[in-house]
Amino acid sequence: MSDRFELDTANEFIARHIGPRAADEQAMLQTLGFDSLEALSASVIPDSIKGTSVLDLPAGQSEADALASLKAIAGRNQLFTHYIGQGYYNTHTPAPILRNLLENPAWYTAYTPYQPEISQGRLEALLNFQTLISDLTGLPIANASLLDEATAAAEAMTFCKRLSKNKGSQHFFASSHCHPQTLDVLRTRAEPLGITVVVADENELGDVSDYFGALLQYPASNGDVFDYRELIERFHGSNALVAVAADLLALTLLTPPGEFGADVAIGTAQRFGVPLGFGGPHAAYFSTRDAFKRDMPGRLVGVSVDRHGEQALRLAMQTREQHIRREKATSNICTAQVLLANIASMYAVYHGPQGLTRIANRVHRLTAIFAAGVAQVGLEVEQAFFFDTLTLASGPRTADLHARAQAQQINLRVIDSQRLGLSFDETTTVEAVKALWALFADDGQTLPDFDALAASTHSRLPHSLLRESAILEHPVFNRYHSETELMRYLRKLADKDLALDRSMIPLGSCTMKLNAASEMIPVTWAEFGSLHPFAPASQSTGYKAMTDELQAMLCAATGYDAVSLQPNAGSQGEYAGLLAIRAYHQSRGDNDRDVCLIPSSAHGTNPATAQMAGMRVVVTACDARGNVDIEDLRAKAEEHRDRLAALMITYPSTHGVFEEGIREICAIVHDNGGQVYIDGANMNAMVGLCAPGKFGGDVSHLNLHKTFCIPHGGGGPGVGPIGVKAHLAPFLPGHAHMERQEGAVCAAPFGSASILPITWMYIRMMGGEGLKRASQMAILNANYIARRLEEHYPVLYTGSNGLVAHECILDLRPLKDSSGITVDDVAKRLIDFGFHAPTMSFPVAGTLMIEPTESESKEELDRFCTAMIAIREEIRAVENGTLDKEDNPLKNAPHTAAELVGQWNHPYSREQAVYPVASLVDGKYWPPVGRVDNVYGDRNLVCACPSIESYQQA
Ligand SMILES: *Cc1c(COP(=O)(O)O)cnc(C)c1O
Repeated sequence: MSDRFELDTANEFIARHIGPRAADEQAMLQTLGFDSLEALSASVIPDSIKGTSVLDLPAGQSEADALASLKAIAGRNQLFTHYIGQGYYNTHTPAPILRNLLENPAWYTAYTPYQPEISQGRLEALLNFQTLISDLTGLPIANASLLDEATAAAEAMTFCKRLSKNKGSQHFFASSHCHPQTLDVLRTRAEPLGITVVVADENELGDVSDYFGALLQYPASNGDVFDYRELIERFHGSNALVAVAADLLALTLLTPPGEFGADVAIGTAQRFGVPLGFGGPHAAYFSTRDAFKRDMPGRLVGVSVDRHGEQALRLAMQTREQHIRREKATSNICTAQVLLANIASMYAVYHGPQGLTRIANRVHRLTAIFAAGVAQVGLEVEQAFFFDTLTLASGPRTADLHARAQAQQINLRVIDSQRLGLSFDETTTVEAVKALWALFADDGQTLPDFDALAASTHSRLPHSLLRESAILEHPVFNRYHSETELMRYLRKLADKDLALDRSMIPLGSCTMKLNAASEMIPVTWAEFGSLHPFAPASQSTGYKAMTDELQAMLCAATGYDAVSLQPNAGSQGEYAGLLAIRAYHQSRGDNDRDVCLIPSSAHGTNPATAQMAGMRVVVTACDARGNVDIEDLRAKAEEHRDRLAALMITYPSTHGVFEEGIREICAIVHDNGGQVYIDGANMNAMVGLCAPGKFGGDVSHLNLHKTFCIPHGGGGPGVGPIGVKAHLAPFLPGHAHMERQEGAVCAAPFGSASILPITWMYIRMMGGEGLKRASQMAILNANYIARRLEEHYPVLYTGSNGLVAHECILDLRPLKDSSGITVDDVAKRLIDFGFHAPTMSFPVAGTLMIEPTESESKEELDRFCTAMIAIREEIRAVENGTLDKEDNPLKNAPHTAAELVGQWNHPYSREQAVYPVASLVDGKYWPPVGRVDNVYGDRNLVCACPSIESYQQA
């Protein structure tokens, strides 16, 4: 017997991430007639692009090892005390919100609430967010979040352009008191649209007749609180609309923008409990007047009723969603910041109006006391009125004061060589104020007496702008102030919803795969959470190491030469990508290239983005197999050859097929002077098998919240990095805090930096082999479902080999004709079986698109197929008259628990309604509402918590 043990180094994570076991894999392969995964992928991937993958990554690490490696990297970040402000403030995330919401898969693994019946919990949380924003800003309609303050400002600019009556003007006024990063993003977004952003001091503004709109900051970035009433009247006098970027905490004490005439309010909800995270993700907000509600960018939660007449929530005006408006869209925003909006809304629910006001008063008082003391030690405060931010005229001492602060691990805001800034926040203490006085005093100088100053210091808010209207009177903000109550409220809401922690979410194009706990854990490490995005670079070397490695990993996965991590959603990646193409053409003197070819099957963000980038969309046809019609594409590329800028194409196609002509398609575009944008939302079919950067793409975005394991969060956060070939690298988004300073597309240099560790962990644990296996299993799972369901529902498109890529489209249109049953009915009936519906009617109306991902086990796939087959049998019963045409389990789905008690008037049984398969008795999901009436809600649009009276009646 040997006395040597072999060390078992097998990486268990790959098998944890991938659902099917080895025996299942064999069984599924057999169903499809293949003997290995390699043989299957060899058959699916077209010969012309086979072997283009360059995925050259080391073997995966175990969960423990990867966490240890990342902890070591994170440890290089230095955690200073920040007084930088400028839109980012320290905050205490209430522990029950951290644990029961931010770290809770019931909240973070949920999908966007397109299926309202299984989303009532998060819809309620978002309605609370809208109510919070509407209350604090004094404007009646608020949306359910935007990506960040700077992009919200850009949305406000184009909103003003559309709605202003000053139609001839191309000039937008932006106050020099706005945050600098906001001004930078405004400039980026204005240029392709031919808008000129005029930045100046509004206090020195003469004639305003030449503007269609204006952006003001309240309080100003440097701390001043200005009264804008007279100025806004002047703007209105010349038909300009006015947007105000406002600080939510300050609004608890100050007159809200809606009460001094603003047409729009925008800003960030970060300081309501969301960690700094080196810049994001955070929820931005947008609110406006009632008259403009139908032009609002982003998603809006509204109140409606269900089939039984009970109150039910849903996304309002969904038919208005940008992806339906395509090239007529006015914004490309899709994924927003739902999880972060929910944190902010719960922060307000937990603290309530008194709590928030107390926090704001405390911050203001400490700022005022500090200001009085710092004057005593000889520094002049520039502001007459302020809330939490001061500018100090530090003169020749400025550099020295910054150096002293750094030595004490304190960051002050860098303004210029003669002045510096400070912002206080919820975490600022009396001790911290005293320490700052000591920092600013000369050695040996007597320090101010805190207690004496506290007794003599008054409010420094302008009397004329003190808030008089009440805030947050709604019961939801006044009920859950004990931890027990809040914990139960969060549990109650989560229990209403179906997220990945209950069952598979088979959404085509959205890749709802596992978000592993080991990937999520680093997100809430202080080493990643507590960094200010504008802190000196020497403090973020851990972030630098992590993002450098991640960029290299993503280059390896895509075959591109450079990656920008800045875009904070797929839509923003598309935008950054088209800007890079535009700048590349211009750098070669090709100033007229503005035609963007887009196949008719494209996701709606593509045409929406093209128009935002100032391009003209030319739609190209698809053939009967769902593939790009190459001859039509060639004809249009040649027709526009002098003006061709780009093709935007999704690969594998949105029809779920690896088109064989992709290389030829790319060549046609290149031959006619265009660049190829490959939408990488379907990258989950390709990683390790083929690489867009190697088969013709010049630029692609990835959705890290699809392919690379960042959870959807109920509709955000997301990350949409772009990869580019070397010739486009000089045109990647820059930032004032980066080497290239121009072309910022969002507020922070690394966008939603604090969730990048999720993707780093995923790639590190899977390694090259694991990632390739994931793609192969995603393809196997999709083909297995297609094969099992094809005799029940026709699979609309396959490749010439009869196989699909990583998703498949089931055609339900024939069933509508034979039975009257629609995709909606099937989608809602799936809820009775405990499933989230597949993607409905995209990219083809009347179809369902299913993407199982590699993470679902064979048992779960079979459970889903069983449900779909049982539903087909029910449809057959309608077809042959066994079930009534109208009063049947499909038309009445989903069924609630409440409708089971009392009179049962349907011609089918209660059992068939709620336990159509026996296994459901164990662990049944009960939808809290019946089918939601969308039309009613759109006719009677209510977008804030219903009135207190309606609660009392209920
Ligand atoms: C999801 C998706 C997008 C948009 O991404 P967001 O992150 O939601 O902005 C674009 N194209 C396709 C094909 C997608 O599936």
